[in-house]
Order: sequence, then structure tokens, then C-alpha cells
Amino acid sequence: MGEEVAILGLGTMGSGMAVNLLKAGFSVRVYNRTAAKAQALTATGAHFASTPAEASRGASVIISMLADDAASREVWLGENGALAAATNGAILIESSTVSPAWVAELATLAQEHGVDLLDAPVTGSRTQAEAGQLSFLVGGKDAVLERATPVLKAMSKEIIHLGPVGSGAKMKLINNFVCGVQVASLAEGLVWIERSGLDPEKALAVLKGGAPGSPLLGAISARMASQNYAVNFLLKLMTKDLRYAENEAAHCGVDLQTAEVARSLFENAISKGFGEQDMASVIEPLRKKQTSPK
Ligand code: NAP
Repeated sequence: MGEEVAILGLGTMGSGMAVNLLKAGFSVRVYNRTAAKAQALTATGAHFASTPAEASRGASVIISMLADDAASREVWLGENGALAAATNGAILIESSTVSPAWVAELATLAQEHGVDLLDAPVTGSRTQAEAGQLSFLVGGKDAVLERATPVLKAMSKEIIHLGPVGSGAKMKLINNFVCGVQVASLAEGLVWIERSGLDPEKALAVLKGGAPGSPLLGAISARMASQNYAVNFLLKLMTKDLRYAENEAAHCGVDLQTAEVARSLFENAISKGFGEQDMASVIEPLRKKQTSPK
């Protein structure tokens, strides 16, 4: 194939995405702030770029997969940023979970530079990124998505076009709002189970097999029960997503009260040192907290 694709950001998700682009035969350039994280990929055929600009120059598709708005702004617009170096006609794909306001700003700057932007955040986590089984939630023009589809297909099981630029970012925040609240309520529910005298295994089986059951509840309850917090999704990133969700919903006149409460549980966990662990570790401070029985 040989088409040049750049991946900016080789964290949990970006690394898996780059592997699948290589497998699909694309010529892949990789940039990561911490260069050492690129080693495994360069050993398997990716070209290392020491700046976002170097990765972007001449690439037909440039994908960023970064922590948050600040990281995305830095990599696209900072010193040696990717946008200024993007070749006319290139497609920029913002796959990080970022705020729709930032996507709108970046889309305007992209247009001024003569390139198109898709926002294409993903659902799925480490396992799906590694297996090329992500779902892309896309905002942008039909024709641009059509051109980008072969690249997105190499990393995904489905591509859902939700509307104009910004639609993917909005949908992703709604999705993660619902997930974040579910994880927080599961943490409280499991601590309650543990103190209730019920058999935790049987009780969790009831939740998983019943109305509250979901892929998320299944995966997270297993991590909470085994206290295995190897990172699939960093706790600090869920906190960020809930914050962005609250802001975005407020623009629509919606007050996300449950997001605020869930976020307070995640922030408490960060203050206890769990920010760099998997989001399932939100349960740990609750396990230690005991209010006097009423
Ligand atoms: P991650 O492992 O924490 O990786 C974050 C990436 O952002 C790293 O490449 C990091 O570089 C870079 N970064 C952070 N701050 C930066 C800055 N100021 N300047 C330049 N680069 C910076 O995160 P992830 O799990 O891959 O997630 C990436 C995005 O996808 C996030 O927006 C997340 O919310 C979203 N997401 C994650 C999952 C999941 O399950 N993990 C699922 C769906 C969506 P360094 O290596 O140098 O720190």
C-alpha cells in the first residue's frame, strides 16, 4: 500500500493502533513525547519522528491519540507542531477524547491551513486497540471520511459517522459519562456487597447476568474483585472525561449531577495516589472508608 500515516501519541491506545496500521501495510511514522515508548514500534518497521512536525510532513493521514485538550494543543500547534507541517490535502484525525470546543478550534485552524479534520474518538480499550477492534465515532465531511476509511478500517471493527465535525467528540463524552457513572456506582455496590455478608462471587454473578450487566460491568468488576489495576484505562483520564462531559452538557443546558458525584469519587482516588492506575481502582479508597452504621 505504502500510504504514509502518522500516529502522534504512543500511550496505551496509540501503540496498539500503530501496530495495526503496520500490519495493514501502511508506512507508519510515530511520534511520542517520551521517545523511548516508540522503540517496540520502530523495531517492527515504524519510522521514528523526533517532532510532531517531522511525523506530519508528507503524511496523507495524521492521527493523534493523546491524553487531553492540553496535550492535543501542544502536539498540533506547539513548537514543531503537526498542523503547520501538514501537507496540503492531508487529513487530520483527532482520536483523543477531547472537548468539542477544542475540536471546533482545531477544525477552523485546519481549514485555514488547507487540510481537513475528522474527530474520531474511539470506544474500546487496550485489548480492542491491540486487536484492531476499536469503534470510531466520527464527525466530519462524508468525502473526507471516505478517503480516511481504509486507514480507520485497519484499526477498527466499526466506523460510525455521527454528523459534522465535533459530533464524534460529543458522542464520546456522552458515552464516557454513562461509563464513568456506572464504574463509580459499581465501586460503591461492590464495597456494599463485601460488607453485607453476601458471597461476593454469587452477588456479582447476579449483577452481571441481570439488568445492570454490561461489558463494562463485567470487565471492571473482575478487576475490582482481583485488585488487579494494570492499566487499561487510566483513572485520571476518566476524571478528565467526566469534567469535559459536565462542561459540554452544561452548554446544552443539562446539569450532569451524577457525573459530578462520580467525578468526586475519582478525584478522591487521585488524591489517594490512584491516578496512574486503572480506573477500577476507584474502589480502593471506598474499601478503606467506613462511616458509622446507622
Ligand atoms: P495514555 O496511555 O496516558 O497516553 C497518553 C499520550 O498522551 C502519551 O503518548 C503521552 O505522552 C501523551 N501526552 C500527554 N500529555 C502530553 C503533552 N503535554 N504533550 C505531548 N504529549 C502528551 O492514554 P491512552 O489510554 O492511550 O488514551 C489516549 C486518549 O484516548 C485519551 O484521550 C483517552 O481518554 C482516550 N481513550 C482511552 C481509552 C483507554 O481505554 N485507554 C479508551 C478510549 C479512549 P508520554 O508518553 O510522553 O507521556
